[in-house]
Amino acid sequence: MPGPGEFELIREYFTSRFQTGSRSGTADNGVELGIGDDCALLLPPAGKRLATSVDTLVADVHFPAGGDPYRIASRALRVNLSDLAAMNAEPLWFTLALTLPHSDPAWLEPFARGLAETAHEFGITLVGGDTTKGPLSITIQVTGACARPLRRDGASAGDIIYVSNQLGAAAAALPVVLGEVTVSPRQQQQAETAYYAPEPQFAVARAVEGYASAALDISDGLLADLGHICDASQLGAELNLDQLPVAVLAHSLQADAAVETALTGGDDYQLCFTVPARHRDAVQALQLPITPIGHLSEEPGIRCQWHGKPWQPRGTGYQHF
Ligand code: ADP
Ligand code: MG
Repeated sequence: MPGPGEFELIREYFTSRFQTGSRSGTADNGVELGIGDDCALLLPPAGKRLATSVDTLVADVHFPAGGDPYRIASRALRVNLSDLAAMNAEPLWFTLALTLPHSDPAWLEPFARGLAETAHEFGITLVGGDTTKGPLSITIQVTGACARPLRRDGASAGDIIYVSNQLGAAAAALPVVLGEVTVSPRQQQQAETAYYAPEPQFAVARAVEGYASAALDISDGLLADLGHICDASQLGAELNLDQLPVAVLAHSLQADAAVETALTGGDDYQLCFTVPARHRDAVQALQLPITPIGHLSEEPGIRCQWHGKPWQPRGTGYQHF
């Protein structure tokens, strides 16, 4: 049986699941007009900037094509929400450009459900998109409201470098998610959560907005992404790997390379941010799930110390080309 045509598909899986706004524009994140017209009509919150970002996820490059569509949708949105979190912006709206090899209800139903449930969890509304036929690819553009942005270029030499939670879980999980290695059912579940359900760090970014000098989310690996703060701020960094919060999953799945994985593995979407040393005690007092791992310095490049000795990683992080 052929699946629904383009317009039926949009109605059935997207329009029906997302409120299309109210004429007054007061309810639902200021959506005056949502899915269905030439454009969405949106009311920006008074006195705030709009923060916007777009990410494309290509099947078998950014996620396994045969993966659970519910989790693929959830991950695609979470990855985009992470950019809003790292800018310290509150989620408002997103659009979805979906390229599908075919119109398959068995795939679309769980995909749309994963998207809607994740959107609901984070208070973001789907307001439009585009649907085309071709190799599976998911492009999401998110827009948020931002009062106190956390940019990459505000750091100074001497600022302390922090990361949220633990690093290395998603990269250690990837071979499990791809079915390349077999693990216990418990580890399988932990791996799938680490890879498919990264947690955008809204709470941490919000809590440090008055202290942080720069911030970003770690998508391509700590060394690569910290490198972006260093480049934007024209600085270097000194890291103490004895303090690196290495994920338990990285230890259990990649015992001999856990630290390397935590340094260079991508997909964790934890927050990396810098704080001037004078705010150290105030940030400590916030009791956040964060760890100081080093500081910025004048000398370009990133240098690592491990057990008191200089240490050189083999790789530096994910690059697309
Ligand atoms: P247009 O021809 O003006 O580009 P489309 O036919 O592509 O319009 O889309 C019709 C309506 O459905 C538009 O409001 C568009 O934003 C929305 N839409 C299309 N695809 C999607 C999708 N995958 N998710 C959400 N909204 C969509
Ligand atoms: Mg279109």
